[in-house]
Amino acid sequence: MRVAKNLVIQKFGGSSLATPERIKQVASRVVREKRKGSDVIVVVSAMGDTTDRLFQLAKVVSPNPPRRELDMLLTAGERISMSLLSMAISELGYEAISFTGSQSGIVTDTAHTRARIIDVRAFRVQDELNKGKIVIVAGFQGVSPNKEVTTLGRGGSDTTCVALAAAFNAARCEIFTDVGGVYTADPRLVPKAKKLEAISYDEMLELAFCGAGVLHWRSVDIARRFKVDVHVQSSFSKEPGTVVTAKENIERAEIRGITQDLNVASIEARGLDDPMRASEEILGKLEALGIPAKLIIVSSEEGRVLIVLPEEHFDEVASEMDSLGISNLRVDTEVATISVVGNGLCARPRIAKEVLASLSRSGLKPLAISTSGISLTVLTKRDRVVNAIRNLHSDLGLDSPS
Ligand code: ASP
Ligand code: MG
Repeated sequence: MRVAKNLVIQKFGGSSLATPERIKQVASRVVREKRKGSDVIVVVSAMGDTTDRLFQLAKVVSPNPPRRELDMLLTAGERISMSLLSMAISELGYEAISFTGSQSGIVTDTAHTRARIIDVRAFRVQDELNKGKIVIVAGFQGVSPNKEVTTLGRGGSDTTCVALAAAFNAARCEIFTDVGGVYTADPRLVPKAKKLEAISYDEMLELAFCGAGVLHWRSVDIARRFKVDVHVQSSFSKEPGTVVTAKENIERAEIRGITQDLNVASIEARGLDDPMRASEEILGKLEALGIPAKLIIVSSEEGRVLIVLPEEHFDEVASEMDSLGISNLRVDTEVATISVVGNGLCARPRIAKEVLASLSRSGLKPLAISTSGISLTVLTKRDRVVNAIRNLHSDLGLDSPS
């Protein structure tokens, strides 16, 4: 793909586009960028909570809707915002054109509701940029090689944005959110969370995978592989945000931040004769369904298998598990994970000790604990998690002074 000179790619999330007024504000922001002489591609999410509402609508009609039809339905959300934004930009006297994921050449595999991008053939986007137009792209959606419309999983418009930035070798990739950056914890839940100036790809990937909603984890994976600096900033103010980058000069910290994931569910069996085989079978099913396992614990001695997965895919997994014939399979949709992420974690058992002590003071009982080189994750019951992460943030010395 030819590199478009001075190309800036901006992504606006659902809350930035929630009302016609906000869409007009976004239009002004986009036009400001265009006036600087940049070529501009804008990636949009659906307005406000449109995707949630469409999802609920589907559930009223069918408890377990065909995934192809779900994709047809959910992609409608981004078509509304992309066309309205294009109209708002035209109103300001600038030429704009909106494209669906398919028209933009976002080619994915065939896994409906959680497709992966396999190629970007953005020729039409390039042609329109060459004509001087602002191009609006519907995020979160693509087209499979057999011409079916697909979606990339909830939060996937970040991934559309970073994939386009990588394909075009864009000069700048900007993600506008309502929170205005990456924080040491979700600032909506932990008021004393601090905004980070910069964060490494590895730490951001871990935070996103462990539930930090600010960026879709697959977008961080693409950013890391193609070395795209991702600027996360506020759509409502001019304050500097956070850059996700490979640069070495990031201030080193033992703990970069904490996050929770309330949208997980667990499946567990105990007393199995052959837990290794059971886990292989379960993981085989998950692989076939394209669903990630967030945490895996297998203990031969206890005959125990515990696997944590995203709750949104839980119904599908549960119905598949029946066919495995594993006895005593217990499912729990009232669980959550709390994760602490930082480069210094593996070298410091003290941190794990402090985390466990703090959670226990908050009255939480760990159901499982796992660590990677740069993270520690605790599985627990869902109630009291928000209070526990506030306490944990303070106990780990992350609270901002004010
Ligand atoms: N509208 C989609 C969602 O709510 C995609 C996105 O916002 O990134 O998940
Ligand atoms: Mg998002």
